[in-house]
Amino acid sequence: MIDPYGRKITYLRVSITDRCNFRCFYCMSEQMEFLPKGEILSLEEIDRICSAFVAKGVRKLRLTGGEPLVRRDAIELFRSLGRHLGAGTLDELTLTTNGSLLARHADSLAACGVRRINVSLDTLDPGKFAAITSRGQIQPVLEGIAAAKAAGLKVKINTVALKGINEDEILTLVRWCADRGFDLTFIETMPLGEIEARRVDNYLPLSEVRARIASVFPLEGVAETTGGPARYVRVAETGQRIGFITPMTHNFCETCNRVRLTCTGTLYMCLGQDDAVDLRAPVRTSPDNGPLIAAIDAAIARKPKGHEFIIDPALGRPAVFRHMSVTGG
Ligand code: SAM
Ligand code: SF4
Repeated sequence: MIDPYGRKITYLRVSITDRCNFRCFYCMSEQMEFLPKGEILSLEEIDRICSAFVAKGVRKLRLTGGEPLVRRDAIELFRSLGRHLGAGTLDELTLTTNGSLLARHADSLAACGVRRINVSLDTLDPGKFAAITSRGQIQPVLEGIAAAKAAGLKVKINTVALKGINEDEILTLVRWCADRGFDLTFIETMPLGEIEARRVDNYLPLSEVRARIASVFPLEGVAETTGGPARYVRVAETGQRIGFITPMTHNFCETCNRVRLTCTGTLYMCLGQDDAVDLRAPVRTSPDNGPLIAAIDAAIARKPKGHEFIIDPALGRPAVFRHMSVTGG
């Protein structure tokens, strides 16, 4: 799949549920309205769409959410998608999780062929953790991360940089991850979806985060890129990789290799744009994959050149009205 700007599309992210057991304040509002079950793709439908993408050249699948592991049949889906790894038609099957249910599922995920996972953790302080997530507890998350490591999964920690909230923990998190052999990626807050807090209040540019780390640990540039918004450096002393996802301050769109599917079968060609193509109707109306493939082709032909994020203090509203939990980040 090659889009109109010559970019090869090899990566599909799939939000398998819009639900979550946490309410991270930058991601969801307290009064989230979740989708009725009938609108959500079944396991078989998700598998069918993912498999069509794999047949069309996607080499990496990431399941996300909401919280992917709150969906009861999540492991079954990993198991069935794992067949593409065995067949050599898929390089990587992975997930992004808040870690709260990981202790229960880490071994099964490893058995399904998952090798690396991203776990979101914004703080190591139990009180701050409860405040950021509204209803989460840190202990099960730490246990989940330990279980993942014990199961042989490579863990990357994702931390949203939040001014006045976790900026004092940046170096602590770098050391905590280094001690456990985890890579660490910092994320800037993105203006997705209406939430109660005003995002400009917590916006912390990652240039500041990077400068703080560099003042203590000499950093080396790393040329590699995943085709996404992350840029990497290496801590010279330990070799630990630290990523910075800066959608607001840098343009990463020219190397974009991904599209995103929601749990209702809507395909977004860009995280920062509203244009989308419905893949649920072709799946539900035809047992034949022809209409689905035609819809995927039409979507890729419409992939935009770049995003339009902006946090506008004057407007005080997000640039894109979907919450992150819809497209899964
Ligand atoms: N529930 C899972 C988790 O938290 O890892 C997966 C879904 S979550 C939407 C994926 C990632 O998006 C998390 O690392 C989260 O911190 C991040 N995220 C959510 N809302 C965001 C926002 N408005 N700006 C930047 N990152 C955000
Ligand atoms: Fe849930 Fe993840 Fe959003 Fe937090 S960031 S509310 S854990 S989906």
